[in-house]
Amino acid sequence: MEEFKFKYKYVNDQGQPEGLFSKTAVLTPEMLLLDVERVSTIDIIAADGHQHNVVVAWQTPNRAKGHVAFRVTRGGVKNVVRRINSYCSHQKAKRRYSQLQEDGKADQYRDWHCPHCSSVIDLSGREQSPQIWCPYCDILVTQSSDAPRDEATYHTCDQCGLYAQPKTFTTLYIYFLLVVWGFQYETRRMCNVCMRREAWKMLAFNFLFVVGLVPSIVQLMRSYFGGSKLSGAFRELDSANAAVHKHNYPAASELYFRILEKQPSQAGVHYNHGLALLEGGDIEHAVEAFSASLSACVNYEPSYVALERILSNTGDEARLDRIRQRYDGIDYVPSE
Ligand SMILES: [Zn+2]
Ligand SMILES: [Zn+2]
Repeated sequence: MEEFKFKYKYVNDQGQPEGLFSKTAVLTPEMLLLDVERVSTIDIIAADGHQHNVVVAWQTPNRAKGHVAFRVTRGGVKNVVRRINSYCSHQKAKRRYSQLQEDGKADQYRDWHCPHCSSVIDLSGREQSPQIWCPYCDILVTQSSDAPRDEATYHTCDQCGLYAQPKTFTTLYIYFLLVVWGFQYETRRMCNVCMRREAWKMLAFNFLFVVGLVPSIVQLMRSYFGGSKLSGAFRELDSANAAVHKHNYPAASELYFRILEKQPSQAGVHYNHGLALLEGGDIEHAVEAFSASLSACVNYEPSYVALERILSNTGDEARLDRIRQRYDGIDYVPSE
């Protein structure tokens, strides 16, 4: 891994770049050097890219947290995010290996390299599972050769939190206030169900002010006809997620089951099923669904967090202990 330089500008709270001139950032395997911040890559939790901006969050060994947001003006957002995550994950894996070596347990070291973002995930001491989750690019990767061809396009939706096939969606509200007019423009990554809801809202709003009508109709058509390209393995996923949005939990369960009959080891689908059951008040079956999700993918953090919260709330200490022993110790996302 070599030194990498990119140009950036800090952004304000609205995500807009500040200042006339770009600054130069230097990323080495050990450090991220910005104008004001010097961050050890080993302390970086993750970098995340949204449109042109990057947010980097970190936590130092004395648990001091920090973050920085900037706009990449040269070097490419995706490239910068991928490199930061790759460098920080390699440092953490290296640290784990040295710790195990010091304890005379180097043979227990096990890692996995994400084929989508080249981050390395430490799996030492974890059992084998049919899927592995990359926390940096939020992709569940099936380890066998019969993986759904489009699985790399599924993530959790920014809007509703369900496992889905989100897309970047731009909302445009054009409004007239007596003599003043303006518009609100926002881009988010959301699933088809959320996209349809947003598209209808946008159309209803813009109908009053004809200027915005054409983009509204384009987005609405996209959300219905151009949006969903789910492969056979996930064909029922949008309908199942839509049923959750409509609080029709039995219908959602039935549809999630249909996907799981074809692909029993889909941690994201088990996770959605768990959320549907939880929202429907069926806590016992929700616990089963989140556990099934973790059996399918031993490091799927969303299911672990959900399961831990439920068991803490219900005071089921014995079960909570077992779950923690089996799945805790994921060190890339610090517990609050
Ligand atoms: Zn990845
Ligand atoms: Zn959504």
